[in-house]
Amino acid sequence: MKNRVWIIVLSLSVLICAVCWLYISNLSPLSQIVGIYQNGTLVEKIDLNSVTGKREITLSGEYGKNTVLVSNGHIMMKSAECPDKLCVKHGELKNGGSPIVCLPNRIVIKFEDTSYSADAKTGALR
Ligand SMILES: [Zn+2]
Repeated sequence: MKNRVWIIVLSLSVLICAVCWLYISNLSPLSQIVGIYQNGTLVEKIDLNSVTGKREITLSGEYGKNTVLVSNGHIMMKSAECPDKLCVKHGELKNGGSPIVCLPNRIVIKFEDTSYSADAKTGALR
């Protein structure tokens, strides 16, 4: 009889641990909120986790158009008419990586998670 109680207590604590773990892992995934800025103002905020299918966002700047490609969990500068095309060469925006910047058209695409590392990266761009 005592054995059975222990089994119940054990399985309950395992269950509680599992629930806690699920709760925590749901609460703290890496931020997937991306902000697209032009001229320092927010153009659009996108939660990459909630994107279904593919979406293109076209931004017009002084040096032509930039096309941003968004799909689930991914964002990148697909094409640009700016002279240096550094934004296209940057490739996909990665969490913890440097933001996608198009200096000629003054576009910045970055994760909204303003952790210290993101701040340090922004400072390095100046
Ligand atoms: Zn560019």
